[in-house]
Amino acid sequence: MGNQPLIVLSEESQRTSGKDAQSMNITAGKAVAEAVRTTLGPKGMDKMLVDSTGSVVVTNDGVTILSEMDIDHPAANMIVEVAETQEDEVGDGTTSAVVVSGELLKRAEELIDQDIHATTLTQGYRQAAEKAREALDEIAIDVDEDDDEILREIAATAMTGKGAESARDLLSELVVDAVRAVADDDGIDTDNVKVEKVVGGSIDNSELVEGVIIDKERVSENMPYFAEDANVAIVDGALEIKETEIDAEVNVTDPDQLQQFLDQEEAQLKEMVDHLVDVGADVVFVDKGIDDMAQHYLAKEGIIAVRRVKSSDAKRLARATGARPVSNVEDISEDDLGFAGSVAQRDIAGDQRIFVEDVEDAKAVTLILRGGTEHVIDEVDRAIEDSLGVVRSTIEDGKVLAGGGAPEIELSLALRDYADSVGGREQLAIESFADALEVIPRTLAENAGLDPIDSLVELRSAHDGGDTAAGLDAYTGEVIDMGDEGVYEPLRIKTQAIESATEAAVMLLRIDDVIAAGDLKGGSSDDDEDDMDMPGGAGGMGGMGGMGGGMGGMM
Ligand code: ADP
Ligand code: MG
Repeated sequence: MGNQPLIVLSEESQRTSGKDAQSMNITAGKAVAEAVRTTLGPKGMDKMLVDSTGSVVVTNDGVTILSEMDIDHPAANMIVEVAETQEDEVGDGTTSAVVVSGELLKRAEELIDQDIHATTLTQGYRQAAEKAREALDEIAIDVDEDDDEILREIAATAMTGKGAESARDLLSELVVDAVRAVADDDGIDTDNVKVEKVVGGSIDNSELVEGVIIDKERVSENMPYFAEDANVAIVDGALEIKETEIDAEVNVTDPDQLQQFLDQEEAQLKEMVDHLVDVGADVVFVDKGIDDMAQHYLAKEGIIAVRRVKSSDAKRLARATGARPVSNVEDISEDDLGFAGSVAQRDIAGDQRIFVEDVEDAKAVTLILRGGTEHVIDEVDRAIEDSLGVVRSTIEDGKVLAGGGAPEIELSLALRDYADSVGGREQLAIESFADALEVIPRTLAENAGLDPIDSLVELRSAHDGGDTAAGLDAYTGEVIDMGDEGVYEPLRIKTQAIESATEAAVMLLRIDDVIAAGDLKGGSSDDDEDDMDMPGGAGGMGGMGGMGGGMGGMM
């Protein structure tokens, strides 16, 4: 008891405290924001990211850039999380969220230098974020979920500046149709929209298939190319004879015996196929393999069979056709079958794929995205993902905002008014928050090669005059009513961005001590060693394995 050690940390540990810790975290956070800043908006630039294997990604998408960047610093990672949350919750606005977060940190640094305590600062930031949410609600525009025109404009806004420009009208129409098709009583799950990327042709040739496309061919050349009014079976297993778990040794003493053995297997496979014929299946999608003999019988019966279907595809097939997957073919009944008006193997840009179409109520659709090169299509795909997200959010919430920096200027003005009413030192923090939000219109202007000061002055005066939708037209440099240009974004993009940006900034600002164990990147092998040191001996190890995993996750 009397021997309390003075040094509690191991020699390898690194400790940074007080202002040093704060400034280290702020610097790391700002660096992340700086990395994506130039990509913001319709005139934003792209980044080329090359990973250790040499594979290249060219993108304008905030969350993609940050996740490809392999960021190591713990504080920087907290800002990356802001982008990830934004991606999960809305699907768009990742760059904006990170840029705002970085700016909140930058403004905080100035206040800390003026000896404003972090607690006062974070208190003010929280108040400001709360007020911002209310102010956004006030200027939000109600949208009817059946209003296709505005939904398409929202879809198009999310695609701006992401390599999809030339076919924006077509793509936004496809996106809105796709989201509508997969909407059901449980809401909208955009995972049911599969984007099938096809290199070859131009983006204008992209189309929406109300059904599912499987990137596979029928398993045998002897099977038909198409089936009309097809009953569809999904087998979540194999069309093979199960191999025994134990290595059984069969001693064959004469040729007859061998033949008998093979005949028996063949009979079993034939039985499986016969059962499929009995229940009336015309097409069968199998999760695992299909035995050659089974293929032969299936082809003879004129059944189309596809093997090694991905489970995600099987899920969509089930949704689209209404089929219920069964594990054992023997157990399949008529009720388990789904239906599709047409199942066909077709050529698309030199690739054979299976199209399952003309289903009653698709609920799972495929967007065939075409384009000149793989990198171009990949980037358009990311734009489509953003677009699907904003259309979904808009239908779910029914509220949108004008874009082009309009909401940020409006908030900035509202928050300055609010700051006056709060007074005290928090007032300074709220004013800083107001300034920080202007980073969005300022960056939009900078990236468009405009003078940011002029643009901000003009925007402020338009908003002072009551024009809540006045934003910056990045193409002409004029301040216009964004509604006229059809630049709309879902309300949730902004509320979520402000919420996560504030939370991350506040969390970093409240840290006054960073204690890092010697090896920050300690892998699972280290954990195992720790387990070994634990008392309890081998008897307790069974349970320790699980614990080790849990602890590893916490580090
Ligand atoms: P994020 O990852 O934050 O979505 P983007 O590069 O997509 O980043 O840029 C989004 C910003 O660009 C938003 O502030 C949006 O209002 C703005 N924006 C989109 N289209 C236009 C446009 N035509 N004119 C001006 N601003 C636009
Ligand atoms: Mg965007």
